[in-house]
Amino acid sequence: MDCYYCTPDESKVLYKGKFWTLVFHKQDYLGRCILNTNRHIDNFSKLSDDEIIDLRNMLSAVENELKDLFGCTMLNWACNMNNVYSEENPNPHVHIHIRPRYKNPVNINGTIYVDREFGSHYDRKASVQFDTVTIKFIFNQIKDNFLKYYIK
Ligand SMILES: [Zn+2]
Repeated sequence: MDCYYCTPDESKVLYKGKFWTLVFHKQDYLGRCILNTNRHIDNFSKLSDDEIIDLRNMLSAVENELKDLFGCTMLNWACNMNNVYSEENPNPHVHIHIRPRYKNPVNINGTIYVDREFGSHYDRKASVQFDTVTIKFIFNQIKDNFLKYYIK
């Protein structure tokens, strides 16, 4: 069965590690990305000890990087996997949605980003506040700096 997370779009990959791959996502939240397991596993509870340890290291790297680069206040982490179960033959693959959250407005190359829902649950239908040039800039910033933060 085809699995989106087993073969992520290479042009969106920020970092591929031994156990996890960090993938750029829709920029409705500045710096939003997805972390998925390199192994096709269907449930968070099936992570190996090595995957769990590396998950902590990856999450720490993402958190510290996005705080430094864009000044996010904190991050929302979510492993939901709801949509796949609406399909006739669900083929889940463990992945974590990462949405950085911002108490204050952020200036990204002249575009002022505002986290309109800060202090409450993220909006799954939040609009993207950036043009394509700025989105590419955000992608490059995260990709080019990630290894400064990732300690294996
Ligand atoms: Zn998969």
